[in-house]
Amino acid sequence: MTASDAVTDVLRGLHARFGGLRDGRPASYIPQLASADPDDFGLALVSMDGHCYSAGAAGTPFTLQSVSKPFVYALALSSLGLDEVGRWVGAEPSGEAFNAISLEPGTGRPANAMVNAGAIVTTALIAATGRASAFRRVLTCLSRFAGRPLDVDEEVYASEAATGDRNRALAYLLRSAGAPPAAGPPPAAGVPPVDPVAAVDTYFRQCAVRVTAVDLAVMAATLAHGGVNPLTGEAVVSAEVAARVLAVMATCGMYDASGEWLLRVGLPAKSGVSGGLIAAGPARFGLAAYSPPLDAAGTSVRGRAALGALSEELGLHLMRNPALPGSTVTLATTADVLPSAPPGGPERALHARVGIVVAQGALDFTAAERVLHALDRSGPERTGAVVLDLREVTGVDALALATLHAGLARLAGDGRRAAVVDPDDRLGPPDLVRERTGRDLPRFGSRAEAVERCAQALAGPDGPDRAARS
Ligand code: GLN
Repeated sequence: MTASDAVTDVLRGLHARFGGLRDGRPASYIPQLASADPDDFGLALVSMDGHCYSAGAAGTPFTLQSVSKPFVYALALSSLGLDEVGRWVGAEPSGEAFNAISLEPGTGRPANAMVNAGAIVTTALIAATGRASAFRRVLTCLSRFAGRPLDVDEEVYASEAATGDRNRALAYLLRSAGAPPAAGPPPAAGVPPVDPVAAVDTYFRQCAVRVTAVDLAVMAATLAHGGVNPLTGEAVVSAEVAARVLAVMATCGMYDASGEWLLRVGLPAKSGVSGGLIAAGPARFGLAAYSPPLDAAGTSVRGRAALGALSEELGLHLMRNPALPGSTVTLATTADVLPSAPPGGPERALHARVGIVVAQGALDFTAAERVLHALDRSGPERTGAVVLDLREVTGVDALALATLHAGLARLAGDGRRAAVVDPDDRLGPPDLVRERTGRDLPRFGSRAEAVERCAQALAGPDGPDRAARS
């Protein structure tokens, strides 16, 4: 995006507002990270259409650090499945710092894949394949999430490798605990041995992969977009895996500040000690911040403030039901009030027994429920007919389709006649409709035709006069 637009203005506003924060300090336990410029501050947002917005130092490179963890977890889930990965690493918030010895008593299984212990085991689950080393697989996966080839900051890697004794100690502890639990199910066939000690070096390299705030926003947007990178269109992981990763980010991504973060900001997120921070709005956007000074939980101070303010101001909290659809049922009435109704007499009385429900927009489960509810209430009596007009419907997702079919089958089972105005076959091909509803549901190109057919059917074979009398 160029020059100025409303979204860029929001990001610039946040950048101006929080750029002056002076709290926190860049991490120094990895010596190379201490040399980061504490004034660097970048923000980026990527939409589900791949539109990219940024402000400040959004093109400045830094290392992923712990922001790598959800993506490597995604790779492990994709490769091995949730059950196998779950034997090695849990999904419970530890309530502890990122580098804590968060091992389940008895089994030695790390609490979750967002703390170091769990992340090291997760990396250990990525096996080398014939052609690619474990790290090559990790780097390829991270690059797909970012939509461009990423590389390693060798100085940061060397710096952590030279000083990372605590992580090595964690790895030895993990190996001595011998996860997975002996009492658990046996290892799946063909799964190579998992060695956390050998994996620490790969883990250090994954933490040293170089990105920008814009890269991070694309990576977060890919998770938010059901695993499909909105820039490249590549399906990096399945929608199921993306949802699971977001779930673990929501409960564990901010370590011992995860509960407070979900409460106040309400978005799955992940922080890293280089000052990177991502947050994802499922089906809405990916967000990222970069600013090296950290708070006590190891989260970027400016990043936390900016993403928190953005969520509050734009109402992005996950629990606020952002996706409530607009109106679905635009008309619920009876055919006698339509301009096309006969002026009076028995014909008009028949039209009064034909309910009309008009739906619009993209139908998901929420919208389908509204349609069925309106059908159920339509018309003055339960023996009448009902016309469902779907001409203004732009799409029906799989769950909504199944719900509509089931509802229409039920309506017919209750003895009501239904006709659907559906020139675009929104209800699916006739065979499917017959299979799902158990009958040939009459479908028409125009509302007038559908109403006419219903009125005739209500009149019975002897015409309107007799039907009106009885
Ligand atoms: N490489 C860092 C470590 O293991 C990552 C920690 C983090 O970003 N919270 O200590």
